Parts: sequence; C-alpha cells; structure tokens
Amino acid sequence: MDNDIVPGLLETINKEFDQRTFSSAKLKSALQVLQSKKATYIDVNKYSVEVGEILADVLGANVTAELLPDGRMYFNIANRVINETLQKNYDLITGYASDVQTQLNHSANIHMRAQVPDLNQDRVDGIVNRVSSEADFDKIKWLLNEPIVTFSQSIVDDVLQSNVEFQAKSGLRPKITRRVVGKACKWCSSLAGSYDYFDKPEEIYQRHERCRCTVEYNPGSGRRQNVWSKKWVDPQRDAKIEARKQLNIKKKTRAPSE
Ligand SMILES: [Zn+2]
Repeated sequence: MDNDIVPGLLETINKEFDQRTFSSAKLKSALQVLQSKKATYIDVNKYSVEVGEILADVLGANVTAELLPDGRMYFNIANRVINETLQKNYDLITGYASDVQTQLNHSANIHMRAQVPDLNQDRVDGIVNRVSSEADFDKIKWLLNEPIVTFSQSIVDDVLQSNVEFQAKSGLRPKITRRVVGKACKWCSSLAGSYDYFDKPEEIYQRHERCRCTVEYNPGSGRRQNVWSKKWVDPQRDAKIEARKQLNIKKKTRAPSE
C-alpha cells in the first residue's frame, strides 16, 4: 500500500488554492488596477497579503494532525508541501509585482526592465525545519498561518529592494516610503517615513508577524525633476562623453585616409 500522503494532499491544496485565487474579488480588482495602469506597490502589497491569506487558509483546512502520520509533519512531508506551495506564491506575487514595476518604470520614462529577485530559499527552509522539528503538529500549526502571510509580503519587499538597488546603481536617486497600517508598534512607527536610497534605515524592509506596514517605491511620483535635474549624476556619464569625444577625434583624424 502506498502510504505517501503528499501527492494527494498537494493535489487538494493546489485545487482549492486555484479556486480561491481565481474567484478572489481582491485579486480581480488588483488586476483591474494593473490594466488601468494605476497600480502601485500598495496594490502589490495587498495582492501578496490576499495570496498569503488564501494559502494559509487552505493549508490550515487540509494539513491536520489527524492526516499526518503520528500527528507530526515529518521533514519529508513538510519539505515537499511547503516548498511547492510557497514557490507558487512566489511565482504569482513576483509576476504581479514585476508587471507593476515595469509600468512604474515606463510611466517615469525609465527604460529598464523590472528586476525579479530569486526565491529566498533560506526563509522557506526556516519554515520547513521549524515545523518538522516539533513532534506534535498541533503545537506548531500556527506556523502555517500568519508566517505564510509574512513570507508572501516579504516577496514584495524583495522585489522592491532589488529594483530600487538596480535603479540606484544606474544613477537614479530612488526614494522609499514606509507607512504604518493599523495600530503600529513603536518599532514600526519609528521606521515610518520617506527616505532617500542612500539614507534609509537599515531595517526598512524588515517586518514582524502581523505587520501590515507598506513599503512603497514609485520612480515616477514627482521625482522626475530629481531624476532628470542637473543634480542627476550618471557615474559613467563623463567617461562616456570622454570616450565619444575620443572616438570623434579618431574618426576625424582618420577621415582623410578613409
Ligand atoms: Zn509594521
């Protein structure tokens, strides 16, 4: 007899997850905002919370102590179930986030493709290892709830971070805004604000559980002046101009014999 519960479990989880995401009003409206070219990182954050909450619900309903052998989520079960489902969250969220970032770049006249960071495997492994190290699943099942939402939000933070870094390295001066949502703790309140990329708090991308703070980056929101003003410095600009001059001189000097 085949005792491997994982294939059947994953099939049920995937089916329910697909149904729930397909019929989610929040995800539908996120796509509409994207189509109307008005989406921001606030929409990306909402999208990630909704996807995370759906997965947390579906896991909560289907992964139970009664189903698991010895009432424990052994490593080989946790590893396959959590990796596959979080990979799916990553694919969905980075897909939406990179569409939004591409649109933001486009509106700001920045001709750059959206950057997509790799899945943070350490974070996935952290959940897998912790949930499988506990002999009694009921004592650790909370880990498949809120931490899944936090994980999903962190994907957005990673996308934002990699795009901000990429644009900063390209000579732009990105500004990042972090806002508190709901009743914020002291730590979150202290992190709220608008920051220049080169002058931001170390912890700007960090969040605790149940933290719904938003981190925003919009290359086109009134910063065009900054971006294109004289202050704008492309570290390689002078070198490029110099190289072009040299090229012209060479062309000119060579021209008669050509
Ligand atoms: Zn917070």
